[in-house]
Amino acid sequence: MEEITFGIYETFTPEETAELGVRIGRQAAPGSVYTLIGDLGVGKTVLTQGIARGLGITEPVSSPTFTIVQVYDQGRLPFYHFDVYRIGDVEEMEEIGYEDYFYGEGVTMIEWGNLIEEILPERYCRITVEKKPENGFDYRKITIEEVT
Ligand code: ADP
Ligand code: MG
Repeated sequence: MEEITFGIYETFTPEETAELGVRIGRQAAPGSVYTLIGDLGVGKTVLTQGIARGLGITEPVSSPTFTIVQVYDQGRLPFYHFDVYRIGDVEEMEEIGYEDYFYGEGVTMIEWGNLIEEILPERYCRITVEKKPENGFDYRKITIEEVT
């Protein structure tokens, strides 16, 4: 399977987006941090579910609605799935001890990571998902960038 590198990917179905996630999850290194940017309903959770599958997690993954972070210990590496959409203040991140996750041995995925920019590590991977209605209802443009 081809290695995922930084760049632009296009998908035309939810399954293709999940499959891209699987490839990301398979190659994710210990301690890596990903942010996931994009409007509501664009496919952030679909991509995250793929990443979880790529890490070998078989239990269902959904958006952590009532908690900021959901931890999955069952895969090749621990998986920390954050959704910070409802966060009021980065102090809430301090309270849950985010540093143990961001700087730990697992893989961190932060939906809406742009909302907590000031506490993101010096180096992380940003994944942006966008719709382009002119390319069809199920089209998604997925940009993977390294941020340093
Ligand atoms: P978010 O987490 O960004 O709010 P979700 O992943 O929960 O969004 O939902 C994305 C929705 O868009 C799902 O209903 C999914 O079936 C649909 N969808 C349609 N086309 C795609 C695609 N190419 N990639 C991802 N999701 C898609
Ligand atoms: Mg979501």
